[in-house]
Amino acid sequence: MLLRSLREEVLEANLELVRRGLVLYTFGNASGISRKDRLVAIKPSGVSYEELSPEQIVVTKLDGEIVEGDLRPSSDLPTHLEIYKHFPDTGGVAHTHSEFATAWAQARRAIPCLGTTHADYFHGEIPVTTDLTPAEIRADYEMNTGLVICRLFEQLDPNAVPGVLVAGHGPFCWGATATAAAHNAVILESLARMAYYTLTLAKDAQPIATELHDKHFLRKHGPSAYYGQVKN
Ligand SMILES: [Zn+2]
Repeated sequence: MLLRSLREEVLEANLELVRRGLVLYTFGNASGISRKDRLVAIKPSGVSYEELSPEQIVVTKLDGEIVEGDLRPSSDLPTHLEIYKHFPDTGGVAHTHSEFATAWAQARRAIPCLGTTHADYFHGEIPVTTDLTPAEIRADYEMNTGLVICRLFEQLDPNAVPGVLVAGHGPFCWGATATAAAHNAVILESLARMAYYTLTLAKDAQPIATELHDKHFLRKHGPSAYYGQVKN
């Protein structure tokens, strides 16, 4: 079996989405990529999470061709592939219809950075895409969903903003690994919930100061990071 450890990690990332309450039934999917092998491992389509095993994870090339696996890959595979092709540091992608993040996506509202929890993970607001055009929906819908994300990130750094809201749909998150992508999906849902509560309590609540935002993001990410323990 190809890529056993990647398959196991992708399985765990999918199960994490369920454990954290981000996924109902078979909504949602997580994948991981081996950049060395140029192969992607993704959840099969429509298989219940209780039955999922590493053997059932589908391995494909970056053009979507199945290399190993008897089941069909998640129908969102083409969206994952566009993210891998455009964001070269990305090692994993996670997609859910988690409730609060999806509510923001349906409202077509970016999530402002209202506090330091957000700033610890996202440098800037969590953006929302434009709507797909009717032509983009009719043909190659899942690929076009990926392209609408990647177009938005022509002006943004995907390493500093590890997730997005697809308008009228829901969140896609990514990270250095499938584990990190699932983690970011959990965090994004929490940020979406907190922002909703904040704006419910105070509808004129303002984003935190740029200095505070930068402080929190940059102490955890990038060359000057000092949060946590030194890695040997
Ligand atoms: Zn979806």
